[in-house]
Amino acid sequence: MKLLRNTVIRAGLEALYFSGAHYLLRPIFAGVGAIFMLHHVRPSREGEFQPNYHLEVEPEFLRAMLAHLRSLDVDIVTMDEVHQRLSERNFERRFACFTLDDGYRDNRDFALPVMREFDAPLTVYVASDFAEGTGKLWWVALETVIAKASSIEVPIGGIATHLDTSTPAAKQAAFDRLHDWLRALPSEHDLQREVSALCTQHDVDQTSTARDLCMSWDELKAFAADPLVTIGAHTITHCNLAKQPEATAAFELATSRARIEDALQRPVLHLAYPYGDRIAAGQREFKLAKMAGFKTAVTTRPGMVFPESADHMTALQRVSLNGNYQDARILPVLTSGAATAVWNGFRRIDAA
Ligand SMILES: [Zn+2]
Repeated sequence: MKLLRNTVIRAGLEALYFSGAHYLLRPIFAGVGAIFMLHHVRPSREGEFQPNYHLEVEPEFLRAMLAHLRSLDVDIVTMDEVHQRLSERNFERRFACFTLDDGYRDNRDFALPVMREFDAPLTVYVASDFAEGTGKLWWVALETVIAKASSIEVPIGGIATHLDTSTPAAKQAAFDRLHDWLRALPSEHDLQREVSALCTQHDVDQTSTARDLCMSWDELKAFAADPLVTIGAHTITHCNLAKQPEATAAFELATSRARIEDALQRPVLHLAYPYGDRIAAGQREFKLAKMAGFKTAVTTRPGMVFPESADHMTALQRVSLNGNYQDARILPVLTSGAATAVWNGFRRIDAA
């Protein structure tokens, strides 16, 4: 199913490219700038079963995007600068901003060196429990369980369900089904309970996921000292804020900010909502982010930045750089706003 969806999206991007539609859409949907969203930046790995591959791009693709933006004479700016230009309605020059979620160590090892080649700043959003080494990256644990197991049993809808995980294709199908099931569970607690049960059954240690992949406080301190780097917040536990009671969501926002500021001794003024889609961040979260003192907050809803984004500083849309579409031909499709316009139903602002 996911393969089909990816193929449809790819056909859409290629159709936009070959039809030249991105040129026609540019004046309406390119906006005044773009905030790009990335997760991992690292060389591709061997192996057929890589269900989280959409969350990573190769350094070469990041380099191609930066070169493309430079060729268009687009300014590459910090989130502070995005906030300032929006506040001052300063749209003389087009701008782009690079943001990376979760605080992966590869951001330091592979993204920063490429950004440095272009003297381009980046913002990395840190979940404080990941930096602490205590957080759990359940989507990584799920991948590890399925990679290892040849079959899995889970209580979907209260019914013990047997899933074949003996071949790469079966593993991918099982991952997609479990991923959707887990994200639809009523609470964060339910999700963690089910993933923990799977890890126990299949002897997978999910407590090491954060330490294996994310920068520690010490590493972040050195990373944050680089003049190109801004550190933002991504909550404490990387929870779905919209599924939390209001007091918990407010605590996640304010306390993650305080913990990062305390550990790094720098102001933290920018936020990314974990998951960041419609079911993870809405009106209530946009208001809570403002109340917690964030100047900006970014979602994962697709879209460019428009002058009217200034009225929605804590509901800014982004353009995903997705591992499944690392083709240089789609760069102009992404920067024209054509792709995000198609994905979000030709809306400029999506902040409701
Ligand atoms: Zn995240």
